[in-house]
Amino acid sequence: MISRKPIDIPCTLQERKVLEQIALAAHELGTPCYLIGGFVRDKILNRRTKDMDVVCVGDGIALAHKVAGYFDNAKVSFFKTYGTAQVKWNDLEIEFVGARKESYRQESRNPDVQPGTLKDDQLRRDFTINALAISLNEEDYGSLVDPFGGIADLEAKIIRTPLEPAQTFIDDPLRMMRAIRFASQLQFTISEEAFRGIKENAERIKIISQERISDEFNKIMLSPVPSVGLDLLYKAGIMKIILPQMVDLVGVETVDGKGHKDNFYHTLQVVDNIARYTKDLWLRWAALLHDIGKPATKRFEQGHGWTFHGHDAVGGKMVPRIFTKLKLPLHENMRLVKKLVELHLRPISLTKENITDSAIRRLLFDAGDDIDGLMMLCEADITSKNKVKVKRYLENFELVRQRLKEVEESDRIRNWQPPVTGELIMETFGLSPSRAVGDLKNAIREAILDGVIPNTYEAAFAFLLEKAKEMDLTPVK
Ligand code: ATP
Repeated sequence: MISRKPIDIPCTLQERKVLEQIALAAHELGTPCYLIGGFVRDKILNRRTKDMDVVCVGDGIALAHKVAGYFDNAKVSFFKTYGTAQVKWNDLEIEFVGARKESYRQESRNPDVQPGTLKDDQLRRDFTINALAISLNEEDYGSLVDPFGGIADLEAKIIRTPLEPAQTFIDDPLRMMRAIRFASQLQFTISEEAFRGIKENAERIKIISQERISDEFNKIMLSPVPSVGLDLLYKAGIMKIILPQMVDLVGVETVDGKGHKDNFYHTLQVVDNIARYTKDLWLRWAALLHDIGKPATKRFEQGHGWTFHGHDAVGGKMVPRIFTKLKLPLHENMRLVKKLVELHLRPISLTKENITDSAIRRLLFDAGDDIDGLMMLCEADITSKNKVKVKRYLENFELVRQRLKEVEESDRIRNWQPPVTGELIMETFGLSPSRAVGDLKNAIREAILDGVIPNTYEAAFAFLLEKAKEMDLTPVK
């Protein structure tokens, strides 16, 4: 189906120029070619996009080389086996591919590929909204080619597959994650038949590499309202395969008429709350995992009701295991998430009356530069429906912030290192690296944090001499 009227998509001047050059190159090679996929979808939706996908009925690699020739011989990377090529020019990436027909085998995501028509190529695309093409050919330049009703689906905000849904998801199970990711990113609905297809084939997600799964999961986490995608992952039966610890949070148990909140939906709310204030993926991950230790620590205590004692520490211990399994980065990102999970109850404990400066100093020391992220998590953790309570909790946190600011201004604890180093301790007492050095260093740190001595070199050194004496150590000079 070719619409007669050229479609007007909001391209920049540079993009228009590039498209005209691609059209010229294709014309010279006698190869029909089309703009296709995410670029078309996002332009129609007025979303920011820059990478272009171009499909041609012929040799995509030859077309890429011809186009690169027009752009000061821009770099072409190509994959002969897949018949794809990429041209990078300024900040633009253009992917070229020859139109193809695909057929799949049960045990693999990699299809058998043969040259095909434009329609064959559109049919191998995952969703109707990703199968839209715009002609770059002289006779109908700018016309939309929409054989599966992609435009109508964009308008209705619906995700549908061009092929029978079960077939689509069996062929390439990554598409299940992609459907849910698009639903969350674009705030679209997955059609009933497509969602049934996902539910029936959820188990097949197991043949997808962890890197690809986590990549899509992170895109869901970065979407405007992540709970949309997270809840769909749960309802589709995919969450229990890729992140079962989240599913352990689901449900409410009642004993003696006392229930606790559903920690799964509470968590989703916390992720949405933090997403309103930050685009930082790892702060969002901290929100996702902040209560992950609750199922393991849940008890019903007579007279008390439900308790989750120590879920912060237990949750913190679970973070490295979860990150390892999901192949997420294990260095500072993981350390931040672990730290915030471990500390997420601390600011609440500081909302009580008569909190000493030393308790505030300790939190500043433990959280360091992540104190602002921690406070953001704590505020996101307020999910009560009672407006009066919410107001009171927020006011309490405001007071904690105020105290944190005051103590930081006077004591500079955030990035603080005790004024007496381990090296100086070793030199003073002629010690080699040993337990005694660590004990002395800790004693100085604790004394300063507790406000027993001021945060100065003189006071710390005097304290060191006194402590060392108790341990029968004498200075060497
Ligand atoms: P984003 O850029 O947000 O990841 P996108 O749709 O552009 O979204 P790409 O991975 O760049 O995603 O893919 C470009 C196009 O290739 C898609 O629009 C779609 O037409 C097709 N495509 C990508 N992955 C698949 C897949 N697993 N199955 C079928 N078609 C796919």
